Parts: sequence; C-alpha cells; structure tokens
Amino acid sequence: PDHRQIRNSADNSPLQIFVKAKKKINDIFGEIEDYVKDSVHYMQELQKEPHILDKDAVTKTEEYVKKVHGIRDVLARDHMKVAFFGRTSNGKSTVINAMLRDKILPSGIGHTTNCFLQVEGSPNDEAYLVLEGTTDHCAVESVGQLAHALCKEKLSESQLVKVYWPKNRCLLLRDDVVFVDSPGVDVTPNLDEWIDLHCLDADVFVLVANAESTLMVTEKNFFHKVSTRLSKPNIFILNNRWDASANEPEFLEQVRRQHQERAIDFLVKELKVCTPKEAEERIFFISAKEALLARIAEQGNTSPSMSLAEGFQNRYFEFQDFERKFEECISKSAVKTKFEQHSQRGKFITSELREALDKIYNDAQKLRDDKLLQRKELHNKVNYTEQQLMVITQEMKQKIHNIVEDVEQRVSKALNE
Ligand code: GDP
Repeated sequence: PDHRQIRNSADNSPLQIFVKAKKKINDIFGEIEDYVKDSVHYMQELQKEPHILDKDAVTKTEEYVKKVHGIRDVLARDHMKVAFFGRTSNGKSTVINAMLRDKILPSGIGHTTNCFLQVEGSPNDEAYLVLEGTTDHCAVESVGQLAHALCKEKLSESQLVKVYWPKNRCLLLRDDVVFVDSPGVDVTPNLDEWIDLHCLDADVFVLVANAESTLMVTEKNFFHKVSTRLSKPNIFILNNRWDASANEPEFLEQVRRQHQERAIDFLVKELKVCTPKEAEERIFFISAKEALLARIAEQGNTSPSMSLAEGFQNRYFEFQDFERKFEECISKSAVKTKFEQHSQRGKFITSELREALDKIYNDAQKLRDDKLLQRKELHNKVNYTEQQLMVITQEMKQKIHNIVEDVEQRVSKALNE
C-alpha cells in the first residue's frame, strides 16, 4: 500500500505539469528531427539530378539537423531550480532536508554551509559529489561523509558543489527539481557575484527567515538585488522555527500577524513582485526541524522520536501546504521560462524547412512546365515538317505522273506518225 500511496501522490503532484510538458515537447522535437532528417535525405537524392536544387539549400537544411539535436540536448538537461537564501542558521539546510525527506545536507552547529551546494537527481542512482571545476566523482554514502568532504576542501563561498542523490529516494529529485543551498546572506560582501553565478536561472527563491526575529536588512537587501536583475522573481518566505512560538502561546496570534504583515509589505510594496492576494500564498509559518523528524519517522514507519511541541500538526500541515504551492509555482514558471524559447525555435525551424521544401516543389514544377513547353514546340515543328514533306511528296508524285503521261502521249503520237 505504501508504494501505491507514493505513486498516487507522484501522479497528482503539480510537478507533473513540468514533467509532462517536458515529455511532450521532447516528443515534438523528436518528430521535428525525423522530419528534418527525411528532408535532408530527400534533398541529397534530388541533388543528383541537375538544375533542381542549389547547394546552399541542402547545407542549410543539414544545419537544422544539428540545431534540433542541440535543442534536444538542452531540453534533456532542463530542470526546475529552487534556491534557498537567508541568514546563517535560520534553517536552510534543514528545510531542504525536510523536502528531500532525508538528512542529506549537513546542518547545525559546526556545519555552516560555506559554499553553494546543489542537490540534484543522480543519473545512475548512486550518491556522489562533484566539486566545481573538476569532473571527479566523490562517492558519498552518508551525511557525515558529505560534511567531511566539504570541510576537507578549501572552498570559497561562491563556489558550487554538486551533490548527486539517488532519484528513487525522493520524488522531487525524480521529477527534475534541483535544490541550491547558499552560505548565509550575512557572511558575504559578494551578493552580486552570487546572483550572477547561481540565481539567474532559478525558477523559485525561498527566503528562510527566523520567526523568532524580524526580517533583517541583509536578507532584504539580497532580494532587492535579485529583483533588479530578474523581472518578478518568484519568492517564498518561510518563517522557520515557528515551534518556538509554542513556548509563548499568548503572543502567538499577535506575533504571527506582525510577521505576516511585514512579509506582505516586503513582497508587495518594497519588491513589487506580487499582489497582496498572491503574497498570502507565499508566506508560511513552519518548523523545518519538526517536518524533517516527521518525514524520517514516516519513512521508517515509526512515530517521531522526540516529543513534539504543541501545535505540531498545524505547523506540519502548513509545511505541506508550502510544498504544494511551491510545486505549483515552480513547475508553471519553469515550463514558461524554459519551454517558451524552445517552442519558438521549433516553430522557426519548421517554417524555414517548409519554405525550403515549397521552393523545391515550385522550382520542380516550373522545370516541368518548361520542359513540356519545349517538347510541345518540338512536336509542332516535327508536325509542320511532316506536313511539308507530305505536300512536297504529293506534288512530286503529281509532277512525275504528269511527266509520265506527257511522255506516253508523245511516244504514242510519234508511233502513230
Ligand atoms: P542553515 O545554516 O540556514 O542551513 O541552518 P541549519 O539548517 O543548519 O540549521 C541550524 C540549526 O537550527 C540546526 O541545529 C537545526 O537543527 C536548527 N533548526 C532548523 N530548523 C529549526 C526549526 O524549525 N526549529 C528549531 N527549533 N530548530 C531548527
């Protein structure tokens, strides 16, 4: 039953919008590729006949084969990318781990993320990491190993380490979501470099804030910079560590309202990236730590090992609600930004090809008409000559006949005389 449940939730997942669109557009490009190859083959055959095709048309069509192939390569690598930002220790790694349903990224004291970490599905179902600028696969079996491998290397904060994790362990990875964890926005003066290197192709940004304090200037600054570079970035705000609020239930509603209002103002009035109504769907109060524990317990079919604070269920529901809204947002956004360009180029190539084939057809038609005309002229000429010949023959016959008659008459006259 567990498998069935996972399968069902996979098929209902909003991520399927992207997955299905990717399959469909890939199939279409497969057809375009066949169509282009057929045309090239046809043109090469036709080129053996003189006068029908000019060489440029063939070379141009041959280039389309390469272009379509290139697009299919890019398409195969297209994914949905989400990047997490926030101050150190707000819980970025924990949020990612909770979403991945496993302790994949090292988190907590002593494991401050000091470089960019990207987690994506492994093509061969093995776990390994690759440091930027190298191609070496470094196998990792556990978080401990991963943390160790990261500490061992001297990494600069803008550097990227790619973690490849088995797709079969997580639906989000299977469905082409790529996660990027960043060093705290409070530790770097290089925000512009970060944005250029890691943010321009992100479909969704998640600001992991600390619900125990207000949004910091450093956190806000970062998103101000992002929104000058990207038009209307999709930003979610997670007020993490909301479990701490359980200690002070009397202020719960008031604190929540205050955070909510400020976060809405930030998205709507300061960044101007969404409407107040949209902003309501972008702000969540969660506890990543609890969500991760719940997920790990679910995997092992046990109940969470630590005692959970009051209100856990609500926070966990809100976390799941975030995941659903996030999935909807990222898959729609990625379809639009990634596939719109491909479909424009696909349309362009097919219409160019159609024009080339139309030209061949018209040229061939014209050639045929010319030949027909030539033949007709020739035919007329032959006819004329034949007629002339007939007339001449007729005349000759008559003349000969006359001569013969004349001779006969003369001869008989001579005889009579
Ligand atoms: P990062 O630096 O932003 O990646 O933060 P981490 O994910 O490493 O988290 C820092 C510490 O905060 C870890 O010890 C986590 O266990 C803890 N933590 C993360 N999320 C929560 C939460 O929702 N509630 C509580 N109480 N602790 C959390």
